[in-house]
Amino acid sequence: MTSSTAPQPSWLDEIPARLADLDRAHLLRRRRVVEPAGGAHLRVDGQPMLAFCSNDYLGLASHPALAEAAREATHHFGLGSGGSPLVSGHSAANEALEHELAAYVQLPRALYFYAGYATNTGIIPALVGDGDALFSDALNHACLIDGARLSRATIHRYPHADLASLEAQLAASPARRKLVISDAVFSMDGDLINIPALLALCERYDALLLLDDAHGFGVLGPQGRGSLAHAGLTGPNASRRVLYMATLGKAAGVAGAFVAGDTALIEWLLQKTRTYIFATAAPPLLASALRQSLQLMAAADVRRAHLASLITQLRTGLTDLPEALGWHLLPSHTPVQALVIGSNDAALAVMEGLRAQGLWVPAIRPPTVPAGTARLRIALSAAHTTEDVAQLLAALHALAAQLSVPLVSR
Ligand SMILES: *Cc1c(COP(=O)(O)O)cnc(C)c1O
Repeated sequence: MTSSTAPQPSWLDEIPARLADLDRAHLLRRRRVVEPAGGAHLRVDGQPMLAFCSNDYLGLASHPALAEAAREATHHFGLGSGGSPLVSGHSAANEALEHELAAYVQLPRALYFYAGYATNTGIIPALVGDGDALFSDALNHACLIDGARLSRATIHRYPHADLASLEAQLAASPARRKLVISDAVFSMDGDLINIPALLALCERYDALLLLDDAHGFGVLGPQGRGSLAHAGLTGPNASRRVLYMATLGKAAGVAGAFVAGDTALIEWLLQKTRTYIFATAAPPLLASALRQSLQLMAAADVRRAHLASLITQLRTGLTDLPEALGWHLLPSHTPVQALVIGSNDAALAVMEGLRAQGLWVPAIRPPTVPAGTARLRIALSAAHTTEDVAQLLAALHALAAQLSVPLVSR
């Protein structure tokens, strides 16, 4: 080798080409700049759009009482929390919120986090590690999957909602510490897992159950107390085997998340969760807005009833799609309604067709969902009107008629 060889190219030089690869494979994601425009309406990159993609299921994100609570709290507490909760960041607002969260979900104790992603990636490694066993539903949210990987426990992945497979895996596992992790309401399908059956398996095999209720909290159960309350497993029926996690940026309309359950377990998480200990606590203005939100959520039966009627309206309105298209609506009683289209191209074409009519419904493609099940993920909200849903139904039927012509005449 002589010193005249050209310098080795740096891997950093490859990044633009890799971006171009993503673009060619239609995998380059683009952010849209959004501004609220009243109800479920947005300005998206400057264009008016009716959105069916927000997780603000109760329409509380823009509630004036939340803004007012945040404004007052900013006046009192200032903005930043200034530190980790274990040093100086645990404000009186955050403390009060934790008590109110525990009371709302009818579990002994709650721990409030700045984000759901950080909650799951933090608490799973605090619970299990090398030599322990994790059991994970195949359709779990990314942050449960990432938390499982970070933990270094052995991961057993079972087919979606297949409790017989889960039982076989639990029975075969020699690990002393077993943790089952599952979405309560699955974020891309909208279905609710059978929580009593899942808990019964955990009882039988001495496993702990972590339920992520990001999409059920505020929506399901009496007064919106969530999927676990919906299953009748809170209050006097609460099991110390269940850790209930939910996010606060969806139906609660603000930001953050919490985990609730047995007092000793929550104390353990407070001691051991690195994403909690080594991160700045959420600003008290958010906790103050959330305290207001909990009151609104508890009193939001009218919003929940309206949401339920929109879900029925959508499902009824999609029963008579042309069969030849092969589109089908997955079973779901939640605001997450998945209309499976099939191929990526077809799903994108429908999304674009809707967009051209001022309707924003995201197409979800593999790898987020299994290959061949590209879909529209229709998220309904109490902020929608019956007219909004009627407009979406009319647009979908018009597109279905257009797209089914070539199929039928083939
Ligand atoms: C949104 C979501 C999260 C992440 O919560 P963030 O507060 O947005 O970080 C976790 N789990 C599920 C199932 C979610 O849908």
